[in-house]
Amino acid sequence: MTDEMNYIPESAMAIVAHPDDIEFSCTGTLARWANAGARVSYVLCTSGDVGIATPGMTREKAATIREEEAKEAAKIAGATEIIFLREPDGLLQPTLDLRKKLVREIRRFKPEVVLTGDPTVVFASEFYINHPDHRAAATAALDAVFPAAGQPNLFQELEDEGLKAHKVRKVFIYGQQQTGLFLSIDETIEIKLAALRAHKSQFPNWDPGDRVKEWAAERAKGKGMQYAEAFRVITLEDDQTWEKLRHKQNNLG
Ligand SMILES: [Zn+2]
Repeated sequence: MTDEMNYIPESAMAIVAHPDDIEFSCTGTLARWANAGARVSYVLCTSGDVGIATPGMTREKAATIREEEAKEAAKIAGATEIIFLREPDGLLQPTLDLRKKLVREIRRFKPEVVLTGDPTVVFASEFYINHPDHRAAATAALDAVFPAAGQPNLFQELEDEGLKAHKVRKVFIYGQQQTGLFLSIDETIEIKLAALRAHKSQFPNWDPGDRVKEWAAERAKGKGMQYAEAFRVITLEDDQTWEKLRHKQNNLG
C-alpha cells in the first residue's frame, strides 16, 4: 500500500468547474506536490464568466479577467500549465462532448493522479447547495478518468491525434463529507492563501484568508498538524500494476 500521507505523484491534474475552485479545495496539496517536483496541470471547464456582477460587466470581459486571475493563482502554486475549456459558466453539463474534451487532456498530459470534486454532494452544508457546475465537472471528470481515458477503442479518433489511451493511478476527491485522508498543508498554507487572493474579482470587499485558514485548521484538529486538506482517495491501479503501466504509458521501455 502507498503511504498516502507522504505520497508525491509524478504528475497531477485538477479538473474543476470554475476559476478559484482549486484554490478553495486542493491548492495546498498541489503546491506541496509541485514543490517536490510533480508536474501539475489545471483544467478549468468554465472561465467563470457569470461570476462578476458589477454594472457593465459582460461575460467576455469577466472571462478574460478571471482567466488572468486563474493563471496568476496557478503560477503561485507552481502548476506547470492551465487549460481553459471555456464551457458556459452556470450552465455546465456532463455531456459526452465534455467527457471527450477531458479524455483528450488526460491522454495528452498523462497524469498519475486526477483531483476533482464529489458529484454526489448536493447539500454541502445547512447553508449551501453545491453549485450544479461543480457536480457536472466532477461527473465529467470521473467519467473521463474511468474508464474512458484508458480504453484505446473509445474515442479512437483521439488516437489519430497521437493521444494514446492513458490509465490514471489514483483519483483524489475533495469536498466530501466522508473523507479518509487528511493531508497536512502546514508548509503550503500561505501559498494556498496567496493563490486564493489572486482571484481579486471574487473578493472585492473581504479577505477570504481567515475563513479558509479556519476551515483548514478545523480539518487538521487532533491529527498532529495545523492545517489540512481532506480527500477521499480511489486507487484504480495498485502499486505493482502501476510500476509496469507508468513505464509503458511514458514509453520508458
Ligand atoms: Zn465554483
